[in-house]
Amino acid sequence: MKKIAIIIVAAGQGRRAGEGLPKQYRLIAGKAMLRRTIEGVISALPDALVQVVIGADDHADYNAAMEGIHILPTVFGGASRQLSVYNGLQAIECHSPEFVLIHDAARPFLTTELVSNVTAALESGANAVIPAIPIVDTLNKVQGTRIAGLVDRSSLFAIQTPQGFDFAALMAAHKAAKGGTFTDDGSIMEAAGHPVEICAGDERNFKVTHPHDFKKAEAQIMNELGDIRTGTGYDVHRFEEGEYLWLCGVKIPFTKALKGHSDADVGLHALTDALLSAVAAGDIGTHFPPTEEKWRGAASDMFIKKAAMIIRDRGGVISNVAVCLICEKPKIGPQNEAMTARIAALLGIAPERVSVQATTTEKLGFTGREEGIAAQATATVRLPWQAI
Ligand code: MG
Repeated sequence: MKKIAIIIVAAGQGRRAGEGLPKQYRLIAGKAMLRRTIEGVISALPDALVQVVIGADDHADYNAAMEGIHILPTVFGGASRQLSVYNGLQAIECHSPEFVLIHDAARPFLTTELVSNVTAALESGANAVIPAIPIVDTLNKVQGTRIAGLVDRSSLFAIQTPQGFDFAALMAAHKAAKGGTFTDDGSIMEAAGHPVEICAGDERNFKVTHPHDFKKAEAQIMNELGDIRTGTGYDVHRFEEGEYLWLCGVKIPFTKALKGHSDADVGLHALTDALLSAVAAGDIGTHFPPTEEKWRGAASDMFIKKAAMIIRDRGGVISNVAVCLICEKPKIGPQNEAMTARIAALLGIAPERVSVQATTTEKLGFTGREEGIAAQATATVRLPWQAI
């Protein structure tokens, strides 16, 4: 595999998409558009160098949107798209990539398949390749408000990004094009005399431009995550001697402890099973057998994080989780907020998607006799249809 760099052009101010934040930092289904774009790039090309070109005033917005993602330090854009790309090319020149892909931040729907179409053409010797889709609408010339003849659409294509290039050839073409007003890199290569090939683009990889495009993007995401799953989990741990216990990731001073192979966090165990059951991925014992010595005393954080990772790896999202703790004591109410926040942090979702409830059993049964604590949980998960 050749060394590949990808430049994400995110320096525009995106005024057409409405007031406020530049559009690449606006949320689409709860996530900044730029973050979606970059996550797509990383998942398609995990070994590529990723260079983002941002606006000089956008550092705070960028840092907030990209928390936890580690790629090359940003560079600032120039006065035009052409200059912004050139700044990006200069920034990665020291890494000597063989191929470079240039991608618009405003196209958050690039797929691994689309990226493969581009890299495959480069691997087979093309110096410049751009994804293109045939125009399906009928096209007319218009004079004033009148139609003035049909346009033959058979030779017309709509051009997308990522566009792929031989790095050295694109660098030279950009130097030669200095002072020009090119709006894409394919045109710069063409002007430098390179043949520019097309490969199959993707209808879904549309450019988010106008305010209504955000609605379209959200609908596309929800449609792609249309496989809605529900899972349930149940767990019980008995009391033993002790001075504190763990419930839903929070350490609570108490007159007893909970007995278990791990930290015996009955709430997180029920929740882990609910998440695993939503995606039919076994149960907590499948992934962390209690016979294995290494899980002795383990913090249950790792169980629930593993369940969340399984869902993420399948391209899914967690819509909501709910856990109900069943006990006479300790009192859960005072800990509710801390438990909700902890679960939200462990799963990487908003606290508004986490519910923690508690109930007693009116002194009936083992929980009523204060012999232990039970917990039941549910989880709703959205998966892509193709994940089945
Ligand atoms: Mg358990």
